[in-house]
Amino acid sequence: MKKQELKTPYFMIDEDKLIANLEKAKLLKELSGVKLVLALKCFSTWGVFDIIKPYLDGTTSSGPFEVKLGYETFGGETHAYSVGYSEDDVREVADICDKLIFNSQSQLAAHRHIVEGKASIGLRLNPGVSYAGQDLANPARQFSRLGVQADHIKPEVFNDIDGVMFHMNCENKDVDAFTGLLDAISEQFGDHLNKLDWVSLGGGVFFTWPGYDIEKLAQALKAFSEKHGVQLYLEPGEAIITKTTDLVVTVVDIVENVKKTAIVDSATEAHRLDTLIYDEPASVLEASDNGEHEYVIGSCSCLAGDQFCVANFEQPLQIGQKLHIMDSAGYTMVKLNWFNGLKMPSIYCERSNGEIQMLNEFGYDDFKRSLSQWSVS
Ligand SMILES: *Cc1c(COP(=O)(O)O)cnc(C)c1O
Repeated sequence: MKKQELKTPYFMIDEDKLIANLEKAKLLKELSGVKLVLALKCFSTWGVFDIIKPYLDGTTSSGPFEVKLGYETFGGETHAYSVGYSEDDVREVADICDKLIFNSQSQLAAHRHIVEGKASIGLRLNPGVSYAGQDLANPARQFSRLGVQADHIKPEVFNDIDGVMFHMNCENKDVDAFTGLLDAISEQFGDHLNKLDWVSLGGGVFFTWPGYDIEKLAQALKAFSEKHGVQLYLEPGEAIITKTTDLVVTVVDIVENVKKTAIVDSATEAHRLDTLIYDEPASVLEASDNGEHEYVIGSCSCLAGDQFCVANFEQPLQIGQKLHIMDSAGYTMVKLNWFNGLKMPSIYCERSNGEIQMLNEFGYDDFKRSLSQWSVS
């Protein structure tokens, strides 16, 4: 397959860039003894798991189907977590997971008997402190339902569990801010942690960010695990696949209403939802800060405010030209939807040897089937 001939829109996952992130993950593991499980809710494109598997210890999940997917396509350790399990969910998941983590003491009490003897049992605690840029993504926000609050913990609960999970970071690029949270957890929950086998510190630690002090993070993790006698886990999602993938689109029209808008054959609402939800503009490879030609990069959905970003270019954009929307792997392919009946992006991987391999392709039949398979009669 030749890149120039591929039909847009498509995602292109770059194996070399993925491996560069994974090498950092490997270094962190070697220096700290931490185990790393991939958070599937961020990235579940299992067609590239053969590249990731040698570097990580397994997967973690936010819902029942992710557990099954991790078990089937990744292997290693399969962690199961959900904010709310039904009894049927627990029965399905218990047989295929290694650790099952409940979100509340009531869920633990209701379902513990199903899991006992099958998987290691955990409970999510809410440390009440966090590092997150936006309230929407802040697990310690007011009235949070995520995990047990410190003052609600019944001490005897620690006799019923093997480990706990804390998740309180979102894209935390500041190692000192993270170690501060770690100290707070050690101080507040340390006596309880000493009785456990394992502690997961969740995701959101951005250790693959350029310049991140991995050694400092590793030392802090190692000290924590030795102090409390626990196996530590991190649950990275975005950190593993950051900056590995472009969403490649084509300019299909250029319109002008005071500003010029280049309309492309993709939409944030359908293909890059977090651009919209978190109001975080995308970056375009072809743009240049000093370019004198400014364009809104507009979506082809009907939502009035649906745009990727505003960007400057050295040359005027042309209809038919391809643009690369950078850093489009995390929380994108897992959230694709059929809004407006837009063509869903294909998914490719560019291997280290230059070969382009197709992982997925969608057509009209997929759209139609997602809406109804049978009609009333
Ligand atoms: C979202 C989430 C993760 C992954 O977060 P990233 O920011 O992608 O690293 C890990 N664990 C839990 C419990 C989560 O909710």
